[in-house]
Amino acid sequence: MPELPEVEITVRRLNAALEATEIESVLAPGMVTMKTFDPPVDALAGRKITRVGRAGKMLVVEAGDLALLIHLMSAGRLQLWDKRASLRDRASRLLVRIADGRELRLREFGTQQRAWAKLVPTGEVEKDEAVATLGPDAWPAPPLEVFAERIAQPGHLHSLLRNQRVIAGIGRSWVDEILWEVGLSPFKGAQDLDTAEVARLRIACDDVLGRALDHYEEVIGETIPDKMPMPLKVHRHTGEPCPRCGTTLEAVHFRDYVTTYCPTEQTGGRVLKDRRLSKLLK
Ligand SMILES: [Zn+2]
Repeated sequence: MPELPEVEITVRRLNAALEATEIESVLAPGMVTMKTFDPPVDALAGRKITRVGRAGKMLVVEAGDLALLIHLMSAGRLQLWDKRASLRDRASRLLVRIADGRELRLREFGTQQRAWAKLVPTGEVEKDEAVATLGPDAWPAPPLEVFAERIAQPGHLHSLLRNQRVIAGIGRSWVDEILWEVGLSPFKGAQDLDTAEVARLRIACDDVLGRALDHYEEVIGETIPDKMPMPLKVHRHTGEPCPRCGTTLEAVHFRDYVTTYCPTEQTGGRVLKDRRLSKLLK
């Protein structure tokens, strides 16, 4: 589940490794990966990579006036390999072959093909619908008045913070960490927050995502691993003691994800009922 810190560290490592390298060819074994056809991906052949950047949780690989906009969705990885992929690698979605023999590979784990890429003029990346609709990045956090304005709308915190149009970069893992950090219920209405809670929530976004990134800078070498060493304290730790107060961490399960919280510190001691809640909140 790559979220802002995972995508940002990928961008930093790829930028360092790929700047000024030449693209030899591009293949798209993922039948539905490329969402654009004009210009064709072949238009990248012979160009130099000028920059790797980020737009929310998406990656932008620029080669002069053309750019690949890539969304990893929930199971994609963009990794640089020393050698080219065997065409039997069924996880391959997009292969950018570098003239020096390396290969930038978009891979996706699992059976579904959801990760996507678009080849667009670099000057038009910002205008692409997926980018133009993004809220400000959650890290570094926007100014308090901007943050307060973004989240001042109906909805509970767990879904608002993951809504990329509200604020960009947070997904299912880091939302749990941020809400635990600030001691707020995932199901509290954003409109029920007082001014001090909004301010603390903004700081928590900045701190939690910033610390994750610092951690990655320390432990990730030149290559981005398949499994990110995510420094999670509560997400994926259901049933374990809360690292702060020792209460057993509880979880609410949805169809395809789970949110973990500390009942003592986040929900006034209440353990939220699974099914009823998930029905209500869909
Ligand atoms: Zn606790």
